[in-house]
Amino acid sequence: MVQLLGTIRPSPSLSYFATYKRQLSLYSPPTKAPANGFSPFRRVFNSYLQSNSETTAAGSPCEHSEIIFIGTGTSEGIPRVSCLTNPLKTCAVCLKAVEPGNKNKRLNTSILVRYPRPSGNYNILIDAGKFFYHSALQWFTAYGIRTIDAVIITHSHADAIGGLDDLRDWTNNVQPSIPIYVAQRDFEVMKKTHYYLVDTSAVLAGAAVSELQFNIIREDPFVVQDLKFTPLPVWHGRGYRSLGFRFGNVCYISDVSDIPEETYPLLKDCELLILDALRPDRSSSTHFGLPRALEEVRKIQPRKTLFTGMCSPHFAEDQVLGMMHLMDHEKVNDYLLKLKETEGLDVQLSYDGLRVPAAFHG
Ligand SMILES: [Zn+2]
Ligand SMILES: [Zn+2]
Repeated sequence: MVQLLGTIRPSPSLSYFATYKRQLSLYSPPTKAPANGFSPFRRVFNSYLQSNSETTAAGSPCEHSEIIFIGTGTSEGIPRVSCLTNPLKTCAVCLKAVEPGNKNKRLNTSILVRYPRPSGNYNILIDAGKFFYHSALQWFTAYGIRTIDAVIITHSHADAIGGLDDLRDWTNNVQPSIPIYVAQRDFEVMKKTHYYLVDTSAVLAGAAVSELQFNIIREDPFVVQDLKFTPLPVWHGRGYRSLGFRFGNVCYISDVSDIPEETYPLLKDCELLILDALRPDRSSSTHFGLPRALEEVRKIQPRKTLFTGMCSPHFAEDQVLGMMHLMDHEKVNDYLLKLKETEGLDVQLSYDGLRVPAAFHG
């Protein structure tokens, strides 16, 4: 039995992970927004101490593998500033998103893959986008995450790599360097966007920038800190490649508009699928919308799916029509819950700060 952190939201539908002799539950993040980023950590930390006789702290061993959703929103984030400053319209979702602890608040998509080792935990981050600092300030402090053992990059858009500069805080103050795993095409982009991180000879003497070690990955499996990652090549707009990753029986695809036929075999027997679903009504040229994402779930047949990468419809409550209305976190999840009864589909939206124990390692 896995020790559980924080508030538990039991879900009978998640029993499939029993095959791993581990329990999968969805955790709620701290319900109050951190004033300074530290109080939720203290609360979760205390509840963990109460539920676990073992002493734990940032960097000490954890008992189970887990995924922490560092961000689950589209590039511009939710709430949109423009929605909150619009004198002519009120955006219901963005208004909710500013409330402390509201699950409609979503920053750039990213997950932390966390698993135990004798001397502490491995913390592997997938993507560090434009809002990485803000996400880390909230969730690293809330959940006692200190080191970053590697960053794996899905693609080179700003919402996936815009936070590389912020890693300087870690390499200046926590650890000497951070390995980055990136495809050659995205590394070529970084040579332009983050030239001073790739070629540190461009840095003035005495200036401290992120110390990154770049490792080029192909579309073949690679191992990071004892964990095997299999790239899941997908299209993210016409002619533009992005990578999802499979580790154990977890598949993560955050930015996708089409899945090539040759990628489907890599998704076989997936226990937990984390999949892009930008908006509730239709796909865009670069992202799945909810209807297409659900089509893919029916085809891939994972045991459970959590959607990520959501935007807000940015419509006033009285202007909302049909499916658009559903993009509110709770309303979409109510709608998705019905698919469990009608089709047996176990699908839900993820949210920033969600923790999911998952037995992908050990
Ligand atoms: Zn992108
Ligand atoms: Zn809005």
